[in-house]
Amino acid sequence: MTALLEIDDVAVRFAVRSNLLTEIGLMPPAVIEAVSGVSLKIEAGETYGIVGESGSGKTTLARAVAGLHHASAGSIRYKGTELRGLPESRFRPLRRDIVMMFQDPVGSLSPRLTIKSLITEPFRIQGMKDRDMEAEAARLLSMVGLPQEFAGRHPHQLSGGQARRVGVARALALDPKLLIADEPTAGLDVSIQGEMLNLLARLQDELGLAIMIITHNLNVVRHITDRVGIMYLGKLVEEGPTEDIFSSPLHPYTLALLAANPEPNPDAELQRIELQGEPPSILNRPTGCEFHTRCPFAQADCEADTPVWTATSTAHNHRCHFPEIWNEQRQPTEHAN
Ligand code: SF4
Repeated sequence: MTALLEIDDVAVRFAVRSNLLTEIGLMPPAVIEAVSGVSLKIEAGETYGIVGESGSGKTTLARAVAGLHHASAGSIRYKGTELRGLPESRFRPLRRDIVMMFQDPVGSLSPRLTIKSLITEPFRIQGMKDRDMEAEAARLLSMVGLPQEFAGRHPHQLSGGQARRVGVARALALDPKLLIADEPTAGLDVSIQGEMLNLLARLQDELGLAIMIITHNLNVVRHITDRVGIMYLGKLVEEGPTEDIFSSPLHPYTLALLAANPEPNPDAELQRIELQGEPPSILNRPTGCEFHTRCPFAQADCEADTPVWTATSTAHNHRCHFPEIWNEQRQPTEHAN
C-alpha cells in the first residue's frame, strides 16, 4: 500500500562561499549537502519524530517536504505523487494537504491582524473567499481550546501557549493530511509543553492527521510519536518504533542523546555516555562512519569503512558497524580526538 509520504534517498544541497572567482564563473561555489540520502515513510495518521542536534539537517529535510527548499536528489512522494520538481502552480493545491507549523507560528505574522484574520487567512490564500469566515474562526478556536472572544484579539495579547494554539488553528484550517511541526514546544514552560502535546495528540486522533515532528527534545517524541528517526550530519543514523528506540537504541549517537535527556526512560538500563566535542562541519565530513570522531565505542574499522543502512526484521534500522555495542558492557574506548 502506498504510504502517505515516501522520502527516498533525498539530498538537499546548498552553494556556499561565493568569492570573486565564483561570481565571474571561473570557479564553482563550494556545495554543502545539508541532507544526504534520507529515506523514510510516514503512514496516514502516524506521528513520526525527527530528532538531532542543531545542524543535523532535520529542519532542512522538513522544509524540503513542505516544498520550501528544493530537494537536489531523490524522491519525495505524497500519496504517490512526486513533489520534487513540481512547479509551484501544481504544488499550491497540495499546500492544503501538507502544512508546516513554524517554531514561532504567530510572531512572524502581522501584529496588526486579529486572531480571526490570522487563522482564516489560509482560506484567502487558497482563494476560498466564499467561506463563512466567522463560522470558520469559531470552529478553529473551539478546535484548539481557545475562547471565542480571542477572535478579536491581536498576537501581542496572547501568552506563549495561546500563540501556539493559534498557530495550530491556522495550520489545521484547511483540514490537512500531514502536519509538519518544527519544534512545537520550544520556548514553552514544561506544563504548557504538556498541554501542547496533548492538544496535538487529541487533534491527530480526531482528524486522522499524520504529524512529522522536528525536535531536539526527546521527551516530546517519547510522549507523542509512533516512530522516530535520528539524524546526524544530514543523514539518518537510526530509525524505529519509539519504544524500541528508547529502550534499546542500536546507534551510539542515539544512546548519547538518550543519556543527555534530563528525564531518561526509567524502564531502560542504558549505559550513560557523553558526546565528545562539537559535530564536525558538513563541509569536511569525516571518513568512514561520520560519527567516529565523537563515538566513544569507535573501533579501528570505523574510520575507514562507511556503515550501510541496515534494516532489521522489526523495522528498527541503523547505520553502525557494531549495533548495540553499548549493550555488550564494553567500556567506552579512550577517545583519540
Ligand atoms: Fe561508533 Fe563505529 Fe558504530 Fe560509527 S560504526 S557509531 S564509530 S561504533
